[in-house]
Amino acid sequence: MIPYHSLPEAIAHLGRNLTFAETLWFNYSAKKSDHFLFCHNILFLFVIFSLAPLPVVFLEIKRILPFDKYKIQPNVRLSLKQMFKCYKDVMVIFFLVVGPLQLVSYPSIKMIGIRTGLPLPSWWEILGQLLVYFMIEDYTNYWIHRFLHNKWGYEKIHRVHHEYQAPIGFAAPYAHWAEILILGLPSFFGPALVPGHMITLWLWIALRQIEAIETHSGYDFPWSLTKYIPFYGGAEYHDYHHFVGRQSHSNFASVFTYCDYIYGTDKRGFTNDTRKNGQAHETNGTNQNGRSHETQDFKTD
Ligand SMILES: [Zn+2]
Ligand SMILES: [Zn+2]
Repeated sequence: MIPYHSLPEAIAHLGRNLTFAETLWFNYSAKKSDHFLFCHNILFLFVIFSLAPLPVVFLEIKRILPFDKYKIQPNVRLSLKQMFKCYKDVMVIFFLVVGPLQLVSYPSIKMIGIRTGLPLPSWWEILGQLLVYFMIEDYTNYWIHRFLHNKWGYEKIHRVHHEYQAPIGFAAPYAHWAEILILGLPSFFGPALVPGHMITLWLWIALRQIEAIETHSGYDFPWSLTKYIPFYGGAEYHDYHHFVGRQSHSNFASVFTYCDYIYGTDKRGFTNDTRKNGQAHETNGTNQNGRSHETQDFKTD
């Protein structure tokens, strides 16, 4: 909540006129509690989980030819019904775990010092903090994800996320409830170390999930703007991790490739043969992904 009662009071306190964005922010947030502003993340995540995967789902269902050649695992196709089941499962987890987690984690946001007042951060401050958040999340996510591939972690927790051998956008947040809680920590570490404005936090949560949906889209489009981001992993990189599944010893990082490169787990494993035959090199031809056969339907082109 902004500690000024009116725009003139805010202008007097800042010693300058408010920018257009600051005026908008003042008008929107002045009478709202910080907890309520933080909980906007629940609505943003609901919209992102529901809408962001739709364009690629449409391509997958319609199999529109100019785009179909960019499908990473063309031998694995899901029906609309199967995709909707994935979305429904994600929504159950969303309302039981993701939403409540946001509600109860507000004290930690207050504790680390996320601010909601004026002035608003500059674009450079926002971009710098987002970069730090992505780097910290990537590093910590890498090690937690790698740990979850041990026998216990995989069987008890991570197996659920790997039910989709060829991921779709809806499957990005599809995971065991414990994985949702555990992997919430890497997203929290960045803002905890370099706390910023609530708007930066909103952007961080939203961009991280949009990135995860793009990475799980199942399509590798050569014109994707993310291709211009240095060390960006992308859809094919993570698709290979899902493709190998349970036995995977590679491509653990969530966003970039530098951790996998440094720790020797970087692998560009897809070949035309592996794509068509559904066989992974890391498993000597055996595709052991631990997924449920009820959730996927194999059709060979
Ligand atoms: Zn994994
Ligand atoms: Zn994944």
